[in-house]
Amino acid sequence: MAPIPKGKGFSIDFTGKCIIVTGGNRGIGRAISEACAQAGARVAVIYRGSKDATKVAETIGKENGVECKAYQCDVSDAELVTKTFKQINDEMGPVTGLVANAGVSVVKPALELTKDDFEKVYSVNVFGVFNAARAVAKLWIDTKYQGGSIVITSSMSSRIINQVDKGKPLTQVFYNSSKAAVSNLTMGLAAEWAQYHIRVNAVAPGYVETDQTSGMEESIRTYQAAGLPLGRFSRPHEMAPQALLLLSDHASYMTGQEYFVDGGQLIF
Ligand code: NDP
Repeated sequence: MAPIPKGKGFSIDFTGKCIIVTGGNRGIGRAISEACAQAGARVAVIYRGSKDATKVAETIGKENGVECKAYQCDVSDAELVTKTFKQINDEMGPVTGLVANAGVSVVKPALELTKDDFEKVYSVNVFGVFNAARAVAKLWIDTKYQGGSIVITSSMSSRIINQVDKGKPLTQVFYNSSKAAVSNLTMGLAAEWAQYHIRVNAVAPGYVETDQTSGMEESIRTYQAAGLPLGRFSRPHEMAPQALLLLSDHASYMTGQEYFVDGGQLIF
């Protein structure tokens, strides 16, 4: 069982921890990588192809006085994920936490969607999350490590269909359904791996200012922000506290849940 955290109040101290963040070089993942490093963790940043990922990881490490390294790995390749996670465990480990955050979207009317679109979205958002979660769980089970925590980035799209105008949906049914799939995956993996003292939870962001939302037309952005109780999109670092709490031993009794960090969007 995870040790009872020491220290004042609910401060989070990740000294001695090693956390893998997929999609950790940009957007929400980068904010979580930075917050983990600030809390003292060694951080392994997984990216797919961004040219500046190594530099980003170096900067995070230098600014926070911790080891932070980038590893190029396509999460949709199960074998590569297993190999890369083993390498991280050998070089930086033992790994104690995973944030399975990498995700992609295809925005297109349903009548135009193809099998390639399906594969593009599901191979990363569902199979990629599964690959990462299973690879880290295997490491922990093989080494008898207890207290590992997996945090999956889902989305409020797992529950609702966003609108670009009143009654007009944002056309991304593969994305939405992939997030509903990982929402359920979270419960299933939590149920299967509780016996190994592995916790699995999801953080479901609402709209966040990242590359994924930067291409949105201004009129759509304004409409969407106006419909949110807090009246604005979030910044990436506003997703980090929930992820850090779930990674920490403070959350030792939390598993199988999806936590919405959405500016109140689901109220209405
Ligand atoms: P970004 O588009 O800013 O970044 C995506 C990240 O995922 C990049 O680091 C990218 O790496 C990585 N990535 C994509 N495909 C792969 C792959 N096959 N293998 C490894 N890494 C990959 O995304 P956001 O920060 O906006 O989103 C992060 C997560 O949050 C996603 O799961 C997204 O669905 C979810 N989310 C986002 C919301 C938003 O409003 N932004 C709202 C709700 C959920 P590289 O840079 O190398 O391409």
